[in-house]
Amino acid sequence: MTKETLHFINGEFVRSASGKTFENRSPIDNKLIAKVHEAGRAEVDAAVRAAKDALNGPWGRMTVEERSKMLYAVADEITARFDEFLAAEVADTGKPVSLASHIDIPRGAANFKVFADTVKNVATEFFQMPTPDGAGALNYAVRVPKGVVAVICPWNLPLLLMTWKVGPALACGNTVVVKPSEETPTTAALLGEVMNKVGVPPGVYNVVHGFGPDSAGEFLTTHDDVDAITFTGETRTGAAIMKAAAPGIKATSMELGGKNPAIVFADADMNVALEATVRSVFANCGQVCLGTERVYVERPIFDEFVRRLGDAAKAMKPGRPEEKDTKIGPLISHEHRDKVLSYYKKAKDEGATVVAGGGVPRMAGELAEGSWIEPTVWTGLPETSAVVREEIFGPCCHVTPFDTEEEAIRLANDTKYGLAAAVHTTNLARAHRVGAKLEVGICWINSWFLRDLRTPFGGTKQSGIGREGGVHSLEFYTELRNVCIKL
Ligand code: NAD
Repeated sequence: MTKETLHFINGEFVRSASGKTFENRSPIDNKLIAKVHEAGRAEVDAAVRAAKDALNGPWGRMTVEERSKMLYAVADEITARFDEFLAAEVADTGKPVSLASHIDIPRGAANFKVFADTVKNVATEFFQMPTPDGAGALNYAVRVPKGVVAVICPWNLPLLLMTWKVGPALACGNTVVVKPSEETPTTAALLGEVMNKVGVPPGVYNVVHGFGPDSAGEFLTTHDDVDAITFTGETRTGAAIMKAAAPGIKATSMELGGKNPAIVFADADMNVALEATVRSVFANCGQVCLGTERVYVERPIFDEFVRRLGDAAKAMKPGRPEEKDTKIGPLISHEHRDKVLSYYKKAKDEGATVVAGGGVPRMAGELAEGSWIEPTVWTGLPETSAVVREEIFGPCCHVTPFDTEEEAIRLANDTKYGLAAAVHTTNLARAHRVGAKLEVGICWINSWFLRDLRTPFGGTKQSGIGREGGVHSLEFYTELRNVCIKL
């Protein structure tokens, strides 16, 4: 029998009143995973109402300590059901088990603990002021939850990126309505079972499934009773959501696309730079917002670096997620593969040198139906090429040589995006100098994807608005209310 994925509203799993469903298919072999119920206005209304009511129920009366304890229990329950979450995430995304078991699920659980700790330990400000009568006044700030938070998520790291928002939102006392990506609905629904198991009151965590325009995404982001919207996804979608939020003057947090550069200086440790660049270009089949799509290499080491990067790309074995030697999974869908392949074609048309890949691998048997793609490395394109300027979100990069530090910085910054960068050098002064000049939210030196969850995370330019992580998440998920007491 075909599995069904249901909404989770007010503590219960429910079907769509309309009976409307859409298919969730495996990127591995295009087999049907489940029929997913698509929310109409009725389901979104019900979810938002449940979230609003829950603010005034037991959840709203809990102390920070009680809430934090509950979030620890959520994290522990995810860990207890690790294999189930892992299987669901791997089925939806097709990513290797080695990756999901190392990153997606553990980080999905950790996000609850980190923010449970953060809210307990952050002080607010206090000011003493003089008054004409000499008695003075005291000001102190209290943090209150924003209210009902809409959480709109992408498909590349479904549980991890969703809990990165739900964790702090709940830690701060908000309630949430989550709209997971239509490609990856399963772990968000599974989390509903966890919430019930550990006693999170009904209505605190809700999930509605569907698409963006004229579907759950639009109904949720335009809903009058949603107080704030936190979004991770494409820049273009972020702009549409900001428009939807404008009439209601709703707070928005935007984590958007990128076209991230890596700069490799001739003084870099070649092995370190290669290892990090191979990961940053090809991890998760290139579907990481922080991933590298532009590599700038200082001319004396250009040829060797390109050759070794190309060899690494050719050596990445595609395969089933559970096989130990699988190094790369498929793209999320055939639709996304068509988009990535259109850039592969553009690169060839514009005269790129294809160092590795450039097409679709031949997969045997059932796998031939999956959305597989070859890891690809190009050189020789001008910086004006669409391949070098636009976010592709696939396992590919273009490598350009440079001659001076100033030139490398200029090339890296010549983009409308500003999410992440990586710099490889053994020159300490240069590392500091270049790191400070790159117009990004996060810059790695001699590494990639090393994340301390207490640090600010977000994009500059068209890569986003706002910072999440540690105390910075509290800025978005709470309102600061000043109390002024005349003595
Ligand atoms: P997407 O923008 O297509 O979709 C994201 C979510 O928005 C989905 O749930 C989708 O259904 C919903 N949506 C689409 N249109 C909507 C609308 N009009 N109103 C409301 N909701 C709508 O993004 P994607 O393809 O799922 O994810 C890939 C993108 O996400 C890439 O651009 C990547 O760079 C970006 N991303 C950014 C970060 C970051 O932290 N900056 C992290 C991961 C991914």
